[in-house]
Amino acid sequence: MIPLSRPDITEKEIRRVNEVLRSPYLSGGTALKEFEAKAARVAGTKYAVGVSSGTAALHLILLALGIGEGDEVITTPFSFVASANCILYVGAKPVFSDIDPQTLNLDPKGVQGKITPRTKAILVVHVFGFPADMDEFRRIAAENGVFLIEDACEAIGAQWRGQPAGGLGTMGAFAFYPNKQITTGEGGMVVTNEEEYAEIVQSLSNQGRKPDNSWLTHERLGYNYRLDELSAALGCVQLDRLPEILAAREQVATWYQEELRGVPELNLPQHRLVPGVKPSWFLYVLRFSSREFRDRVAAALTEKGIENKPYFPAIHLQPFYRRAFNYQGGEFPETERAADTCLALPFYNKLRREQIRAVGNIIKKVVGSK
Ligand SMILES: *Cc1c(COP(=O)(O)O)cnc(C)c1O
Repeated sequence: MIPLSRPDITEKEIRRVNEVLRSPYLSGGTALKEFEAKAARVAGTKYAVGVSSGTAALHLILLALGIGEGDEVITTPFSFVASANCILYVGAKPVFSDIDPQTLNLDPKGVQGKITPRTKAILVVHVFGFPADMDEFRRIAAENGVFLIEDACEAIGAQWRGQPAGGLGTMGAFAFYPNKQITTGEGGMVVTNEEEYAEIVQSLSNQGRKPDNSWLTHERLGYNYRLDELSAALGCVQLDRLPEILAAREQVATWYQEELRGVPELNLPQHRLVPGVKPSWFLYVLRFSSREFRDRVAAALTEKGIENKPYFPAIHLQPFYRRAFNYQGGEFPETERAADTCLALPFYNKLRREQIRAVGNIIKKVVGSK
């Protein structure tokens, strides 16, 4: 049995979380402040605000930017559903635009044509930890006077032309669910260079209180999206270990590449890298020449106890989106083709060389090159 993902927790994390447990401060203490300072450093931003999930981070970003009823946000249908749901939370409309089949990220060429007077923001997702074309998106956002939001929930530590993902737009989000590169159990982070937005997010995450935290004064309609001290302490050690963790993941990706390169019918993630980009490996997602091959490989792996998942199903074809917006299929052909042909393999830091060989052998057997 090989699982799809596994967190990488050492004695250091366990010790640090235990220190919190032995203290009287389980929420609203110093570990959160430390975690935020470290996250701002990783994103290259002035401010970072820890919150209870990546989804909460995205929700608060849209609220802080004043996006709401009657507004449109352009985004990708090839992502985890939260990157589109957050637009619906604030009463705005997600306007999907198709992906570039080469990178699987939102295609800047399609985005320009979707801009209307109602457009308030472009919400870019760095899919599988590979940064989207931020030069183009920054240009389009600036020329049209709209915000640029980065869903960097899969891309902590990635770089676009030497600049860290998350800090390239108006505001960015990270997520720390256990399948991400680093985890806090549940948790997320908002990063930005704008003091005003950081303050609003901080307040919204804490029941609308002022930054001075006067306990029972509520300035605005807020939420409880706070990150507790146990999670933040775990996050501090995980972030300290980020370089080591990303290097281990890169090694695993390289082993997969050694195992699978040259296999016909296969497009490896390494083929999707563009020059000047340093990915942060989130998943190892193969792309097959047809849905039939993908499904046969998935079945063969599952039969041998090797977990795999068809990442991502298209958001616009999720039952809820079909019902709410009457999508039928065919609207975003590149996204739908990717959704039909992509498969995520087991991918985590401690995956061993021989396990990768075993996975590779099953794939090669099905595809017929062995
Ligand atoms: C994981 C993820 C999120 C949400 O993170 P949670 O912490 O699970 O709420 C948002 N967007 C993308 C692209 C993600 O992969």
